[in-house]
Amino acid sequence: MTTSALTSEDRAVAEKAVNARVLQNFVGGRWIVAQASGRLDVTNPANGEVLARVPLSGHDDVEAAVSAASTALPDWRARPVGDRTQYIYALREQFLKRIDELAASITREGGKVLSDARAEVTRAIEVLEVACASPMTMQGRVLEGVARGIDTETVRQSIGVCAAITPFNFPAMVPMWFLPFAIVCGNTFILKPSEQVPLTSELIGRILTDIGLPPGVVNIVHGAHDAVNAILDSPGIRAVSFVGSVNTAKYIYRRAAENGKRVQALGGAKNYMVVMPDAVVEKTVSNVLGSAFGNAGQRCMAGSVLVTVGAAQKVIMERLKEEAQKLIAGEGTNPKAALGPVISTAACDRVHDCIESGLKEGAQLLIDGRRPSGVPAGGNFVGPTILNNVMPEMRVAREEIFGPVLSVMHVDTLDEAIAIVNSDPRGNGTSIFTENGAAVREYTRRIEVGMVGVNIGVAASPAYFPFSGWKDSFFGDLHVHGWDAVDFFTRKKTVTSRYFSRGETGKYFVEQGDKH
Ligand code: NAD
Repeated sequence: MTTSALTSEDRAVAEKAVNARVLQNFVGGRWIVAQASGRLDVTNPANGEVLARVPLSGHDDVEAAVSAASTALPDWRARPVGDRTQYIYALREQFLKRIDELAASITREGGKVLSDARAEVTRAIEVLEVACASPMTMQGRVLEGVARGIDTETVRQSIGVCAAITPFNFPAMVPMWFLPFAIVCGNTFILKPSEQVPLTSELIGRILTDIGLPPGVVNIVHGAHDAVNAILDSPGIRAVSFVGSVNTAKYIYRRAAENGKRVQALGGAKNYMVVMPDAVVEKTVSNVLGSAFGNAGQRCMAGSVLVTVGAAQKVIMERLKEEAQKLIAGEGTNPKAALGPVISTAACDRVHDCIESGLKEGAQLLIDGRRPSGVPAGGNFVGPTILNNVMPEMRVAREEIFGPVLSVMHVDTLDEAIAIVNSDPRGNGTSIFTENGAAVREYTRRIEVGMVGVNIGVAASPAYFPFSGWKDSFFGDLHVHGWDAVDFFTRKKTVTSRYFSRGETGKYFVEQGDKH
């Protein structure tokens, strides 16, 4: 478009973008300008407003953070674990006190409705609370008398500088899956937040300053691919945690592992909800809709495929349609909205494209959210959409849509449902709705998925249990939070010891014949 073709509105938007504040990296306790020159607009997905510009940091910016984290490490790891834990308590207090501020930031840059944003902060607080138990969970093991007079103990020690690379859809919660456990275990930490939602991380950085966390213990480097590659290749970083899409997770896992780092890489998902004929109808419908359309379907635990078994189709479909029609899309700050916009215009176009391809391949549109009414101009809105009679080979069944689109399949038996779920290359979460214990047992035992819900919409594990999927939804060994967190963020050292005297006091013990 030439300048003369711009309307005055276009010009005002462009001017605002140019004048938008450029974010800084948080390194060694100070906010500093990134050395790399690339910048990207951060927009409010509800109206296209440019909120800030995020720097696309490169190798030198990452190395500055590695240097600050390495400098902070010796003193931080030498502090008593109880002292380190006090900072996690303080962080929790701040998150509680500033829940509205955090939620507003999440909604502004990520689009989700405020109730979802508050729920996200609440989940982050839950993780912080679990991390406070580290003086207990970090304990090692000891066996007295492995041989005569000899004892062996295993202790857990920090690994060093750890880094996390996080996605756009949970800008407060996902960083908290790693940050508190990493630092409470005596490591120092670098966060590379999603370039699409960097403002909530900036707020977290300010909170860390407010609680007086020593400089360099946590550092924040903004950016995208270059920053990620610099993290993966940096010899100063010992462990990498990643959350994002399948292909990036595979890439991160391979490159970080090749460089000798400890890695946990959580990938994308396609989560199935299986409804049996005896499911409790109203509860099932509300759980299915919450799973499918909460956070506009942009959750790794979104229920994106509904599989009805036998007569369940008749029982459930009409109520599902009636209730889905009541859900409206709108700005996250609109209390009537059940779902906000998707993250970007590109994401919006992709969701539309998926719906079109589903229709071309023979699915039927039960609810059409392609042109939601009453939404702000310039936003990336898609309303709740339900595609019926989807077949496993269709694109909508194979791809993670990451938008408010529920695909519905119908099968005759539980065996068929299990076969469909298990044939998916991913295996993050799944749910079964039934009152039949035998069906539950069959499903939970045979299903190749990391997290299973029974009469609960695709259920994320509580913070005191490990969270992660199977197959292409996860690359690594140790999952997120729960007991796995201290295993990931510490390394074990085994000490075998004996003493030759009986511990008499007041003199040095000398071997017989030694005159001193
Ligand atoms: P994404 O993979 O595009 O980006 C995640 C992070 O990786 C970002 O920080 C980004 O800067 C970086 N990145 C992206 N592509 C890269 C590349 N080629 N090289 C180096 N770095 C790269 O994911 P997203 O769109 O931000 O988030 C949505 C995805 O995350 C979905 O697939 C969702 O299922 C998944 N997710 C998974 C979980 C889980 O627990 N398994 C949780 C949340 C989100």
